[in-house]
Amino acid sequence: MKAGFVNIFGKPNAGKSTLLNALMGEKMAIVSHKVQTTRHRIKAILTTTDYQIIFSDTPGIIDPKYKLHEKMMQAVKGSLEDADVALLMVDAGEDPAESHDIFQKLKLKAPVIVVINKIDSVKNKEAIPELQKFFEEQSYCKEVVTISALNKSGVDELLQRILFYLPEGQPFYEGDDLSDMPVKFFVGELVREKIFQLYHEELPYHTAVVVQEYKEKTTLTKIRAEIIVQRETQKGIILGEGGVMIKQLGTLARKDIEEFIGGKVFLELYVKVRPKWRDNELYLKEYGY
Ligand code: GDP
Ligand code: MG
Repeated sequence: MKAGFVNIFGKPNAGKSTLLNALMGEKMAIVSHKVQTTRHRIKAILTTTDYQIIFSDTPGIIDPKYKLHEKMMQAVKGSLEDADVALLMVDAGEDPAESHDIFQKLKLKAPVIVVINKIDSVKNKEAIPELQKFFEEQSYCKEVVTISALNKSGVDELLQRILFYLPEGQPFYEGDDLSDMPVKFFVGELVREKIFQLYHEELPYHTAVVVQEYKEKTTLTKIRAEIIVQRETQKGIILGEGGVMIKQLGTLARKDIEEFIGGKVFLELYVKVRPKWRDNELYLKEYGY
């Protein structure tokens, strides 16, 4: 039996959350084209009869500007320390210099697989072997794997390479656990993903979601969630004219939550104004950061 922690690092938007979902075959992490969608370290547990891998998706590596950002970077630090295998992700369409600079500074002790992602989107295919060679020559890199997390191509091969480096050991978690986070957390994340889809510019970054009530009844699950914003004007935008926007948000989120938990859901959404919550230690704690 092999068992261990496999942690995914990289710049915002490299495709870390998309890869986590592809590896798990299940939607564990929310994905958006906007940077800094992922705020927590999300552990996803893949168990078979031969191995258990605990994957961690981390927030992208950034310079902290708010207390919220500091908490996000603490999540990154924690996963640097306990990695048995590290996946360093780069977007194939980007100049590798900036990622290389970050990877060098991580000083990982675990074996590193550099994962070149989004090869589907590269027009000049000759650039890929060059990029691969660049990372193979780096001292921190054991090997390079090229994938498209979106199309799930190369993901099985990547899994085989991860297993090669994974240490022998007994499972850390029960066989049917998918994550160390409660269902409530994922429900809040699905609402947050829809906020990133529906609202523009800065608003999603000023928003948190807290699931206040989660009650499983015989025919459906009743969920009450609060959307936290920083200003009254933001509350108005979340609600929309006559509440049209929040209604749309509720419908989209409910569909995904129903799929996630595999049952009918009654979802109630409320909006609360909490000035400067992103810099307030107490609020951050209350909202799970
Ligand atoms: P993260 O910030 O590293 O977690 O990145 P996400 O997983 O949220 O992905 C960022 C964006 O890149 C999303 O719009 C994804 O759909 C997109 N993306 C991720 N993987 C791929 C890929 O293999 N190919 C393409 N074309 N887009 C991808
Ligand atoms: Mg992410």
